[in-house]
Amino acid sequence: MAGLSIENVTKRFGETEVLKGVSLDIADGEFVSLVGPSGCGKSTLLRIIAGLEDQSSGDIRIGGQSVAGQRAADRNLSMVFQSYALYPHLSVGENIAVPLRMRRLNSLQRLPLVGRLLPGTRAQSRDIGQQVAQAAEMLEIAHLLDRKPGQLSGGQRQRVALGRALVREPAAFLLDEPLSNLDAKLRVQTRAEIAELHRRLAATFVYVTHDQVEAMTMSDRIAVMMGGRILQCAPPDVVYDDPDRIEVAEFIGSPK
Ligand code: ADP
Ligand code: MG
Repeated sequence: MAGLSIENVTKRFGETEVLKGVSLDIADGEFVSLVGPSGCGKSTLLRIIAGLEDQSSGDIRIGGQSVAGQRAADRNLSMVFQSYALYPHLSVGENIAVPLRMRRLNSLQRLPLVGRLLPGTRAQSRDIGQQVAQAAEMLEIAHLLDRKPGQLSGGQRQRVALGRALVREPAAFLLDEPLSNLDAKLRVQTRAEIAELHRRLAATFVYVTHDQVEAMTMSDRIAVMMGGRILQCAPPDVVYDDPDRIEVAEFIGSPK
C-alpha cells in the first residue's frame, strides 16, 4: 500500500529488546498519535522511521518502497523534536532554510564537476528565500526571520522547528512530543496550529504525545504502545469506549 508501513520492526540496545515486533500501516494523510508510558519505545520507533537509527529487524516502507539503508535526508520525512533542535548561531530564516540548502548541496554533489560550475545559484537562492517566507507566513513567524533562537520564546522556537519541517514539503511529519516544553495555554494554541497544518497539507502525521487530550482531539487513530509493542491502534472513540485490553483501558482512563 501507499502511505507508511511499519513491518514487524524490532530494536535491541545490547541485551535489551526495546521494540518487540511493531507493525502498523498508516494511510496517506492520516493523523496517528502514538501514546504510551515513558520508556515504552515511542521515540525509538520514530527515530527508526526517520532513519536516525537502524532497526534490528523488520522493514519500513514509504509509498510502498522499502527505505532500508536510505539516509534520513533522502526519506521525504520531517521530524520535529521536543527540544526544537535549532542551530543557535543561525537566524530563524537560516534555520528554516537548512533542509533546502542541504538538499541543494546533495543534488550538486551528484552532478558531474562541470554541472557544479554552471550559473543558477542566485535564482535558486531566491527560490529558497520564497519558500522560507511562505513557511514563516503559514506559521505566523514572518516578523522573526532575522532573530536568533535565543531571542525567542518556547512557542516561537517550536514554530521555527515546524517551519523547518514544513519547508521540505515531506510526505510525512514525525513529531516527538513537540508541545511538552510549552505552557498550557501555548500548548492548546500550538495544538490547534498543528491540526490546521495537517488539514492544509494533507500530509501524514505520526504524533508522539503523553497528553491524552491531545491524542483524543487531534487523531484519526491512536496507537497505544507498551513495553515495545503496539497493543491497539484504533480511532479515539474506539480506544476509549472499546479498549482491547485492560492495560489500554487503564492507560487511556476508560471507565471500567
Ligand atoms: P519513550 O520515547 O517511549 O519514552 P524511548 O524510545 O526513548 O521511550 O526508549 C525506550 C527504551 O529504550 C528505554 O528503556 C530507553 O532507556 C532505551 N533506549 C533508548 N535509546 C537508547 C540507546 N541509545 N541506548 C540504550 N538504550 C536506549
Ligand atoms: Mg520519548
